[in-house]
Amino acid sequence: MGVRPYPLASRVGHAQPSTIAIRNGSVQVGNGAFCLIAGPCAVESREQIVECARAVKAAGANALRGGVYKPRTSPYDFQGLGEEGLRLLATAREVTGLPIVTEVLDPRDVALVGEYADCIQVGSRNTQNYPLLKELGLIRRPVLLKRGMAMTIHEWLLSAEYILSAGNTDVILCERGIRTFESATRHTLDLNAIPVLKAETHLPVLVDPSHGTGCAAYVPAMAKAAMAAGADGLLIEVHPDPATAVSDGEQSLTCGQFAALSTQLRTLRTALR
Ligand code: PEP
Ligand code: MN
Repeated sequence: MGVRPYPLASRVGHAQPSTIAIRNGSVQVGNGAFCLIAGPCAVESREQIVECARAVKAAGANALRGGVYKPRTSPYDFQGLGEEGLRLLATAREVTGLPIVTEVLDPRDVALVGEYADCIQVGSRNTQNYPLLKELGLIRRPVLLKRGMAMTIHEWLLSAEYILSAGNTDVILCERGIRTFESATRHTLDLNAIPVLKAETHLPVLVDPSHGTGCAAYVPAMAKAAMAAGADGLLIEVHPDPATAVSDGEQSLTCGQFAALSTQLRTLRTALR
């Protein structure tokens, strides 16, 4: 393997897969540990996030997701609860013990989000926001770096390199689908990325089948496919009542559907060993 333009992300000189500890090691991501992160697209209320956190925890999730700064296509759509949402996530963590994963959009919010979040998500629309990546390189929180929806794997690894080279060693990659000519699904979930990344980088690789398909009915199949292809974990949208969700209801599993999927994933994992 020759020299790569992303020396810190590359496997060259770092042959062993990395394990990244979330919340002082209460959750390990990578190198054999399978991590299940679940929760709503957006935090909507105390009742919603606590109910969802309890349900995903009971179903075996390792961490809770929930957006409070939402990158919406329309400025007229719900933009997230902001700091109030961060407080609600902290409440859900207190109740369940689940570490929390939430997205930051603006470099000016990194310090605030870092005070609450155990892992900070960079969404697909921001994976090439280099000032944001540099800011995240300076803090001591793991970063979950989604793939840009029009990004090559090479470009994605260079975005990871921005964070690593600024000093933060804890980067988790998350494939979430790319834009193609296909319109039957919201995005085309590029599972090729898993073996490619496993060859190229020591960083853990998660898959988000919710944004990858855009349709709850397709999520279980792609979640299992991702596990079979070698992903280190999954990021899945779950809502207590998807029909009333303020964002991404169509692709959100109910708590019951998530529990059923989690059981299937445990069986699959045993079979794959
Ligand atoms: C999300 O996880 O809710 C989200 C906005 O994802 P993406 O950035 O992949 O679209
Ligand atoms: Mn979403």
